[in-house]
Amino acid sequence: MTSYNIMLLPGDGIGPEITAEVRRVMAWVEGAHGVTFNVSEGLIGGAAYDAEGVPLSDATLARAKEADAILLACVGGPKWDGKTEYNKRPEAGLLRLRKELDVFANLRPALCFDALADASSLKREFVAGLDILFVRELSGGVYFGEPRGIEALPEGGRVGINTQRYTDREIIRIARVAFEMARKRRGLVHSAEKANVMESGLLWREEVTKLHAAEYADVKLEHILADNCAMQLVKAPKQFDVILTDNLFGDILSDAAAMLTGSLGMLPSASLGDGGPGLYEPVHGSAPDIAGKGIANPLAAILSFAMALRYSLDMGDAADQVEAAVSKALNDVRTGDIWAEGFDRVGTTGMGDAVLKALAQS
Ligand code: NAD
Repeated sequence: MTSYNIMLLPGDGIGPEITAEVRRVMAWVEGAHGVTFNVSEGLIGGAAYDAEGVPLSDATLARAKEADAILLACVGGPKWDGKTEYNKRPEAGLLRLRKELDVFANLRPALCFDALADASSLKREFVAGLDILFVRELSGGVYFGEPRGIEALPEGGRVGINTQRYTDREIIRIARVAFEMARKRRGLVHSAEKANVMESGLLWREEVTKLHAAEYADVKLEHILADNCAMQLVKAPKQFDVILTDNLFGDILSDAAAMLTGSLGMLPSASLGDGGPGLYEPVHGSAPDIAGKGIANPLAAILSFAMALRYSLDMGDAADQVEAAVSKALNDVRTGDIWAEGFDRVGTTGMGDAVLKALAQS
C-alpha cells in the first residue's frame, strides 16, 4: 500500500478546529484510495512559543523536512502581539519554516465557486466560473533585497531603504513553474512586472521571454504591467489563467483577486521549492475573534489539503473529488462568514459533515 508522511501544524487560534476537519477528509481519502497517511503533528507559532520557548523548534523543523507534505493552519493572536521578542513572535516560526524549506513558488488559486458568486464585490457575470492561478515568487525581491533598513541622513532626518533585486536564475525558476502550471490548465500565462520603470522588471520580461521561446512556445505568453493587471483584475478577471509575478506585486494582486471570490475562509495556497516537501496553508490568519467557538470555516484548510494531494502526492483524482465535494457542500450549508439567506447556518464540524457527505456520494 502506498503511504505518505504528512506533517500537521495546527498552530494558533482557529487552527486546531479547522485541522480536525482536514483530518476527517484525510481519513476518507485513505479509505477511498487505498493509501496510508502517516501523520505527524507539531507545534508552531504561539502554541510552540508557550510550550517550547520558540515559535518553531529545531526538532519540529527536522520532522517537517522529512514529510511529503506539510499542512499548516495558521499562527498568531493577541496573546503574543507585542509581548514576545521580535524574532520569537508567532509569525517568525512561519517565516523560518518557509525559508528553511526554500519554497520559492507560491501558488494561490482565485477560484469562484458558483454557489458563492453572489458574495463577490463584483457582479455575478464577472466572477461566476472565475479560475485564476497566481504564481508568485516568494523568496526574493524587495522583501529580502539588500541594502535595507532605516538610517539617519547626514543632513538630518531619516531614510527607509528596501531593494528590489532579482537574478536571472530566480526569474527563470519561477517562470518555469508558471509555464508548467499553464500547460496543465488553459495554456495562458500573463507575466506582470513594471518593465517600463524598473530595471528588475525589464530583466524579468527579457528572461521570461527567452525561456518561453526556448521551452514553452506551446503556452501563450502575454506581458502586462502590474498596474494594468490590477485594473484588468477588477474589470474583466475571467481573461486570466495563470498570472506570473514577483513577491511584492504578487502579494498585492493575489489579495485583490482573492476578494473577487467572496471569502477569506475559502482560500487555499501552496508553496513549493525544488524537491523537498510542499507547504500548504489557508490564506487566512488565526481569526482570534472566533477561535474556540466552533464556527470557523474549515474549507480553505480542506482545499489546501486538496492542493497537497494534487501537487505533492500526485493524487489529482482525489484532489478533484475533494474540490467537487466542497462545491457541493456549499449548495446546502454555509458557515457564518459565507452565510446567505436560504442556507442552513452550520459550524466548523457541520461544514466538515457536509463535505464528508458529498464525498461519500462521489
Ligand atoms: P484573519 O485572517 O485571522 O481574520 C480576518 C477576519 O476574517 C476575522 O474577522 C476572522 O474572523 C475572519 N476569518 C478568517 N478566517 C476565517 C475562517 N476560516 N472562517 C471564518 N472567518 C474567518 O486576519 P487578522 O485578524 O488580520 O489576523 C489575526 C492573526 O492572524 C494575527 O495575529 C495575524 O498576525 C495572524 N495571521 C496569520 C497568518 C498565517 O498564519 N498565515 C496570516 C494572516 C494573519
